[in-house]
Amino acid sequence: MSQQPRITIIGSLNMDLTATSNKRPAAGETILGERFETFPGGKGANQAVAAARLGADVTMIGMVGKDPFGNELTQVLRREGVETEHIGSADTSSGVAVIQVVDGDNSITVIPGANFQLTPDYIETKRDVIQNSDIVLIQLEIPLETVAAAAKCCKEVNVPYILNPAPAQSLPEEIINQAAYITPNESEAMILFEDINEALKKFPDKLVITKGEEGVVYSGGHVAAFPVSAVDTTGAGDTFNAALGLKLASGSSLSEACSYANAAAALQIGSHGAQAGMPTDAEVIAFMR
Ligand code: ATP
Repeated sequence: MSQQPRITIIGSLNMDLTATSNKRPAAGETILGERFETFPGGKGANQAVAAARLGADVTMIGMVGKDPFGNELTQVLRREGVETEHIGSADTSSGVAVIQVVDGDNSITVIPGANFQLTPDYIETKRDVIQNSDIVLIQLEIPLETVAAAAKCCKEVNVPYILNPAPAQSLPEEIINQAAYITPNESEAMILFEDINEALKKFPDKLVITKGEEGVVYSGGHVAAFPVSAVDTTGAGDTFNAALGLKLASGSSLSEACSYANAAAALQIGSHGAQAGMPTDAEVIAFMR
């Protein structure tokens, strides 16, 4: 293992386009809004930024469009120290989330764009990158067949992967069986498993369910969250997963890794936006003292 764990993220990059207005336009209506902001996101990119801030040696495998958002999404990761050489570009738009905010309520249209052009064949060309990793993080904002190819590749080259099954959908059994860890939040766990208690028993030390301010549970364990007042919980799960992956790849026990990941997520939710408040390792360690 190099000095820092090598983490490869296989997942999405999105640009969030947020328009804030005091009313929602009706069909055919044009209104003047108050504000427009862009935020880089996508669960894959968020987890890459979180892991890099915490000090991991991070490589991103993903797909952006040949458009200005694609450049910007890649640059944002590069500035964070993420290896971006394995982000491909597709002849379509980059992934975007068009978010209309009215009185704090979001209406969101997600266009997966290039994220859905991340193919099993592309993953196959990155086998050596995956093989060179200590751990791989995968989410579900890319095609399921690509997730399956990534899982299969990890298995073949004997590199553990954490599957963060978000957004939730039912999954082929082998993707779950081959995962070293699966990290749904509570509602995702309910979609994935008929009976959560049974699932916890069936997948001891693999199924780790995040429960917001209650922390995490896994078979035989509960690790409490840190009591903080949340400003914006967007990206809490992504920060948690990156921190968990970092610690597990460094040889920590599951409970130690969960405690560190809870602390990282608690710090992250103290700021607006997914990536802005993601902490460094030194900040997490100081917070846990
Ligand atoms: P999100 O979709 O908002 O990114 P999530 O739904 O995937 O998050 P959660 O279970 O809500 O995941 O949160 C992940 C982790 O973040 C929790 O296990 C906990 O460590 C931390 N966390 C989230 N909300 C809070 C909170 N209100 N107080 C303290 N910690 C929190």
